[in-house]
Amino acid sequence: MLEDLRRLWLEPRDPRLPQLGFSVLFLLDMGLRLVGGVELSRGPLIGLVLVPVVWVATLLVPWPRAPEWLRLALVVADIGLIGLSRLDPSGGSALLIVVPAMWLGFVYGLRGAAITGVATALLVTGPGLVYIGASGMNLSRSVLTAVLAVVASLVVATIVARVRGGQEMIVLQRRVGEAILDTVDVGLVLLDSQGRYTTVNRRHHDFMRLAFPHGHHGVAGQLGEVYHEDGETLVQHEDMPTYRATQGEEFDDQLVWVGSDPLTRRALSVSSKVVRDEQGRFAGAALAYKDVTDFMRALEVKEEFVASVSHELRTPLTSIHGFTSLVLERPDLPDEVRHQLGVVARNVDRLDRLVSDLLQTAQVERGLIHLERERTDIAALVRQSIEEARPAIAGAKLTLATRVPPQLVVNVDPQRFSQVVDNLVSNAVKYTPAGGRIEVDLSVTHDRVELVVLDTGIGISMRDRTHVFSRFFRAPHAARQSIQGIGLGLSITKAIVDSHGGRIEVESEEGRGSTFRVRLPLDVPGERSTDAAPGQPAAV
Ligand code: ADP
Repeated sequence: MLEDLRRLWLEPRDPRLPQLGFSVLFLLDMGLRLVGGVELSRGPLIGLVLVPVVWVATLLVPWPRAPEWLRLALVVADIGLIGLSRLDPSGGSALLIVVPAMWLGFVYGLRGAAITGVATALLVTGPGLVYIGASGMNLSRSVLTAVLAVVASLVVATIVARVRGGQEMIVLQRRVGEAILDTVDVGLVLLDSQGRYTTVNRRHHDFMRLAFPHGHHGVAGQLGEVYHEDGETLVQHEDMPTYRATQGEEFDDQLVWVGSDPLTRRALSVSSKVVRDEQGRFAGAALAYKDVTDFMRALEVKEEFVASVSHELRTPLTSIHGFTSLVLERPDLPDEVRHQLGVVARNVDRLDRLVSDLLQTAQVERGLIHLERERTDIAALVRQSIEEARPAIAGAKLTLATRVPPQLVVNVDPQRFSQVVDNLVSNAVKYTPAGGRIEVDLSVTHDRVELVVLDTGIGISMRDRTHVFSRFFRAPHAARQSIQGIGLGLSITKAIVDSHGGRIEVESEEGRGSTFRVRLPLDVPGERSTDAAPGQPAAV
């Protein structure tokens, strides 16, 4: 009901409500005149009869389909009725003129003000002056009525023009905003402080159709066909990007798959930024969904390719390795052949390491590697790695200092742990020019094991430091100096450390050296080493 009234009032083409207002005011004017003891003359009496008639007639007209002139005629008729009400020897009040004047200004703008002026002059001021005479109070009243009517109409016309201009501007700005949101190739969602979706661009509607085939309620955190990076595990409520955003979390690159059909599903990289009000309270969040399906598929293909090629290379390599060793065992080999076969054996070893690095890289899933943990004396493993590296260290004319406890038993995967030490030590050897120094430290604190491999080599620039743990990354200066490598060692090392629940960090200064620090937790109950003892530094 209230809504109907509001619509009627705001709908400028429907005159029923304004006409009712006018009729009531007109009858009030007449009633007050009677109460005041005025004897109504013919003009006002005719008006008194006509007003209800016009009101009833207004109700009968189907206004939405009525021609424009009929609306105009109705308002002009109202002005005529006011003219009639003034055809009285006492002159009568013409204040009511503001009602049709405002309505004309409201509907027809400046044109309405002009119509008001002409109609008032012809139907109110003119007849008034003729009937009562152009003298005394009547002259001022009659002329002021016309002026007042035009001013009222103009004021309303101006206000309406301003408001409409402002509204048009807002609508225009909103449309420009929507057009921009729709042209970008990224799904965009804006959430309010309650987690309700307030804006969703066209691209994101496509993603939502895949993620929520049965519809979406417009509130953050709804579960759907949204999967983790592995493409199989469904994302739970608290891991849904929109839910995380409503908890005030800001993140970059949360990878999800949307949709279950392998042909149409998309991989999305989601980022979230929180919006805060002036008091710093959570006011909503903006989420961007980037389609990375092609990249993910290419990555999958690459990894499958790497895995199968490495696998295929393994068998012939094993046989070359085996037979070279066999031939090298023969005592009757001429020195030259022995030397040449030695080169073959060394290169086969290198190739073998490369292939196993590639194979392992393909096995790393979501940054983690499969482990077979057992209670291991890692101090012994570190010593063994150092012993194996000694010839290379000596060959590269480097000095070595170690600080390793006699024994340190921890629950790790021994093979993988050795790989960590080997990778870090062999990098230190590779990236340190002759005359440099390498230090290997293994220590234990109350809750963790720390392995430090330090060198005084070429170092890593600040920019490269953030990338050294990425697959296939090689710092430009390493590549420039033709130091061998393919950029897999540190990514595998990090995957191993992460899988043990540890952390690896690097500090470095270009031209001065690098320090790699591995920390593994000791907090698995019953697996804490009791055999640790501080080691003595030993220089080589
Ligand atoms: P690779 O040594 O086979 O290139 P890694 O993954 O072990 O691959 O290392 C990645 C990159 O990090 C190297 O190419 C090199 O640029 C840089 N790097 C690693 N260790 C060191 C080090 N000790 N000193 C200087 N740079 C290093």
